[in-house]
Amino acid sequence: MAIIVQKYGGTSVGDPDRIRNVAQRVKAQHSQGHQVVVVVSARSGVTNALIERAKLLNPLPDDREMDMLLAVGEQETIALTAIALHGIGVPAVSRTGAQAGIITDDAHTRARILDVTGGDIRQQLDDGKVVIVAGFQGISRNGQVTTLGRGGSDLSAIALAWALKADTCQIYTDVPGVFTADPRVVPDARQIDVISYDEMLELASSGSKVMQARSVEFAQKYRVLFEVRSSFTDQPGTTVKNEAPNMEQILVRGVAVDNNQAKVTLNDLPDRPGVAATLFQALGEEGVVVDMIIQNIGRGGLANLSFTVAKEDVPRAEGTVREVLAKLGGGQLMPTGDIAKVSAVGVGMRTHAGVAATFFGALAQAGVNILMITTSEIKIAVAIEPAQAAVAARAVHAAFHLGQP
Ligand code: ADP
Ligand code: ASP
Ligand code: MG
Repeated sequence: MAIIVQKYGGTSVGDPDRIRNVAQRVKAQHSQGHQVVVVVSARSGVTNALIERAKLLNPLPDDREMDMLLAVGEQETIALTAIALHGIGVPAVSRTGAQAGIITDDAHTRARILDVTGGDIRQQLDDGKVVIVAGFQGISRNGQVTTLGRGGSDLSAIALAWALKADTCQIYTDVPGVFTADPRVVPDARQIDVISYDEMLELASSGSKVMQARSVEFAQKYRVLFEVRSSFTDQPGTTVKNEAPNMEQILVRGVAVDNNQAKVTLNDLPDRPGVAATLFQALGEEGVVVDMIIQNIGRGGLANLSFTVAKEDVPRAEGTVREVLAKLGGGQLMPTGDIAKVSAVGVGMRTHAGVAATFFGALAQAGVNILMITTSEIKIAVAIEPAQAAVAARAVHAAFHLGQP
């Protein structure tokens, strides 16, 4: 008898037929005597629809109220899933994030997990019940409903698998596993059987939304093995663990596209020590995560600086920049524009030369103009025009022969 944590994403619970499908899958495990905890997301589209509804009433809604609102999406699914299980004779009970003891800090809309008590889940499992837990949500120490950032149901599942010392953690989604690139963007992308935490984390933080980056970070830190697989088939998916086979031989494991980025530009900044420190300290205090940065000298010894942030952080980033510019007494905020980020990721890069040449060569041949560049030990990334993202991803994918076995 094993403890199994299964997470079903938005598409996998998107309509009554799909919820029935989930219930049948859960029943199959439960009837073999396993203890099953099911983490579910909101039905696909529900979280976005709730955000839009709030923004109709107020373009800058309060974060606490947003959490109160967004938690509704997952709460609908837990009840429906439990009801579906009852309908096929499986004892099941639903639990909110709070009832499952997902304790977080009070950073609304992006709360961090401080502890996972599990609430009465173990008791319910011992009583023979399937427990359905609302993903994405938690509760702060002072009793407020919080959410864990977009895609946060992945994190709920991995944190629960850790807390319950589960034998298996399965992330069920609408693709068969983790691919060498988003199969919806790069048609000849191939499924990866085993991938390392490092590579999965870098792909996720570079925009591969198949796993939430923070969930991979948590899994790596607490050594939670997990598998990404399809809720529509019984095929094995992708295992994510410490070591992947042939790690050093494989130069690039995958390509990621992030279409959710914007470039903030400041022109004619005073060119003196401390300006960047003041700016990025203020952004950090506002909780704005800055990704790429580029600075060059403009006319008359003044500097121009651009940085990229997630689109949803643009209002906060611009507000902070305006305050900093007023304090510095110089510089101007230029119009912010959308960009796309295309990244190649692989731990093999640590020990191989020539990756950058292949990467830039592919973009040049595809006629893609590069706006910004960043690299890390296992990643090379560029910011480009959003309209060229798919072309760029396919070119890089082909240049590293990722479509071939
Ligand atoms: P869920 O609702 O199940 O959490 P998501 O929509 O969050 O599902 O993530 C699954 C999607 O991630 C896929 O439909 C796919 O388009 C996208 N995706 C992006 N990069 C990859 C990749 N490298 N491998 C597989 N899927 C990817
Ligand atoms: N429903 C949330 C979202 O859309 C969490 C999740 O699906 O993982 O971001
Ligand atoms: Mg997701």
